[in-house]
Amino acid sequence: MKGVSSNFLLLFIATICAILMVTGIYLFTPNEYFSWSQAVFIFFISFISSTILILWVHFFILKKIDRLVETVKNYRANGDKPSHHKNQSSNNIENLNFEIEAWADDRKNENEQLHKLEVYRKEFLGNVSHELKTPVFNIQGYILTLLDGGLEDPSINRNYLMRAEKSVDRMITIIDDLEAISQLETGELQIEPERFDIVLLAKDVIEAMEMKATEKGIILTIPEDIKPVFVYADRFRIRQVIVNLIVNSIKYGKEYGETKIRFYDIGDTVSIEIADNGIGIAKEHLPRLFERFYRVDKSRSREQGGTGLGLSIVKHIIEAHSQTINVMSTEGAGTVFSFTLKKG
Ligand code: ADP
Repeated sequence: MKGVSSNFLLLFIATICAILMVTGIYLFTPNEYFSWSQAVFIFFISFISSTILILWVHFFILKKIDRLVETVKNYRANGDKPSHHKNQSSNNIENLNFEIEAWADDRKNENEQLHKLEVYRKEFLGNVSHELKTPVFNIQGYILTLLDGGLEDPSINRNYLMRAEKSVDRMITIIDDLEAISQLETGELQIEPERFDIVLLAKDVIEAMEMKATEKGIILTIPEDIKPVFVYADRFRIRQVIVNLIVNSIKYGKEYGETKIRFYDIGDTVSIEIADNGIGIAKEHLPRLFERFYRVDKSRSREQGGTGLGLSIVKHIIEAHSQTINVMSTEGAGTVFSFTLKKG
């Protein structure tokens, strides 16, 4: 019925109604009483009244549909994305269909989003309680042993207190990382960019990390003749990125290995590379490496004091700068992390 004009349709229906009326009267009126002038008169009366009736129903329904379209539109505009259908077609029923379909799409996306959040929430809570359980149980064990007489035993009392303190430290690290990640994910943490020399910052981090690296015989290097490289970023957050990546290169580095920090000029950005010759990462783990709590070797990570949150914090920070981070790795040979920053 799409190609047929509504005026033609109206005339057609009115004519059919009028013909039916005349036929009805012709069939049910005895012949002696039927006259053609009356039939013509009835035809016109029926035609006009059907036209008025159809027009009235037509406008009445269209008005209702218009109102429905407006209600759905307003409802969507109050919580959902505005309609994609630019002032739409002249056909009200089509408009209503558009709006209802778009509305149903919104609801579907919302449900999917809620489902994802629910899965994420459960997974997150499970991971957090799992991470906190170990240090809490350790502390409880040490305290119970001390209460059971260990306190008077000079061969263990100090040692157990020191171990309990280590577990408290571990809890603090986990809580700090959780706080950082929740601030980054809720967007609470604002990036405060400034112009600074990234080479100087990297040298500063190397100096702070040197002791930790030397314990494993690892050397941290930066090109000797490098000139200052200015970037525009949040200095404090980028320090955290470099620290996390260097700490990982030490944790998962080979004894007497090397971690190299390099800088590359790529147009409007600078690429910062942190490369180690450590244990490396098997290919299948790379796509999930930046997920929270993802670890290649869980026991090794925990043994090294890892929370499984370091790389996810790093990724959030880089993404908050609208920049990118990449990883390349060969199992047994080493890993290279590289991220970009806007030139300052
Ligand atoms: P973690 O606290 O466990 O170190 P991260 O988020 O920092 O958590 O890293 C996630 C996982 O990625 C680690 O558990 C480790 O398996 C792997 N990984 C990270 N950096 C390196 C690296 N430089 N060399 C080898 N493996 C790495």
